[in-house]
Amino acid sequence: MRRSKQNYRCSFCGKDKSEALILIAGIEGHICEVCVEQAVDIIEEELYGNKRPAQKASVLVEDFILSENVTPKEIKAHLDQYVIGQEVAKKTLSVAVYNHYKRLRQPDKDDVEIEKSNVLFVGETGTGKTLLAKTIAKFLNVPFAIVDATVFTEAGYVGEDVESILSRLLQVCDFNVAAAERGIVYVDEIDKIARKSDNPSITRDVSGEGVQQGLLKMLEGTDVSVPPQGGRKHPEQKLVKVNTHDILFICGGAFDGIERYIARRMNTHVIGFKTGEVDTVDKENLIAYVNQQDLKRFGIIPELVGRLPVITYLEPLDFETLRRILTEPKNALLKQYTKLFALEGIQITFTNEAIDYIAKKALDYKLGARGLRSICEAIMTDAMYELPSNKNIREFSVTESYACERLERSKLSMLKAA
Ligand code: ADP
Repeated sequence: MRRSKQNYRCSFCGKDKSEALILIAGIEGHICEVCVEQAVDIIEEELYGNKRPAQKASVLVEDFILSENVTPKEIKAHLDQYVIGQEVAKKTLSVAVYNHYKRLRQPDKDDVEIEKSNVLFVGETGTGKTLLAKTIAKFLNVPFAIVDATVFTEAGYVGEDVESILSRLLQVCDFNVAAAERGIVYVDEIDKIARKSDNPSITRDVSGEGVQQGLLKMLEGTDVSVPPQGGRKHPEQKLVKVNTHDILFICGGAFDGIERYIARRMNTHVIGFKTGEVDTVDKENLIAYVNQQDLKRFGIIPELVGRLPVITYLEPLDFETLRRILTEPKNALLKQYTKLFALEGIQITFTNEAIDYIAKKALDYKLGARGLRSICEAIMTDAMYELPSNKNIREFSVTESYACERLERSKLSMLKAA
């Protein structure tokens, strides 16, 4: 007599079809996916003992170890090729990352324990925070994931669990836990989970302090049970244990309005006892003086601030930097257009005045470096549309008047009024 499908059970652990993700049928019974994995572990243990191969996935941990002879200067030199300006942030990040991987390599861990140097970037949107984190991870060839702090809520509420940060990391390294445990995570918009008020007890703050607490544990270094496919933990999902002790966390945020805390602190400072310093403070760029105290006032819990020992800032992009971003990085926007047209057999050039014009417009529109791309697209769309079907034109120069005319005709010019 055939049994109905609902009655199938794993012959090893007894889970029925509704509890197991997969039930594999044998001649006499069934086995679920969890028992298969456990069986594999037992076989490996028997065959290899302690020397069993750690990696089953296609990604190897050895691929992710910083080469012995890379120095902070070399790391910065690499960042220089992609990130324009932001000298302080590049230098600080190079040192933090260098120390982090040196710490992982230290032979005698019982001696002096070197603490992790998680990094915090404070700077307006579009100034290169994500770009820095991405570029450094690529250079080090370590698993890298970008997550947005705004999607997380405290456990039990609608939204994602903080643990799903690590799901992304696991996914990029093909679920090789050992590789993920040496990766880098960039947590964007960390300022958005700041405590909303100074009095945390009156109302629940499910997306603020609760999330900070969750993040804190992860930054400190702990065993986290991670749902491999992300989202919320649910009972049927098998959780993967990841230890975050050696994962480098880079957090970034615009911290809109933090200048007022900086100004207030510096004012008291100046009036209090260091009157002589008042002239040396660059009031236009207060963000350069950001410290732990300001972050606490902004609503980041002190414990979390304590776990972000390296704080650095990104400067707002001025005209000159925007202009350089257009032309200098290895994959600069204008180099990309030149390449695109070259593939068509067309030599395209941009006059200096046209480049000035684009940079100035990006500054006017207050879109930061992100705006450069939209402005260039608005200017170049017609040429990209027309030129491929006109085989007579082999050279094309983008002048200021051409750029101006195309931009004025585009929807983007409406931003001017904003
Ligand atoms: P943020 O994370 O600070 O909001 P991003 O790093 O995402 O900003 O920057 C958006 C885009 O702007 C990047 O992809 C990059 O092309 C460009 N960009 C921003 N800042 C710089 C910079 N300092 N040097 C080169 N490109 C930059």
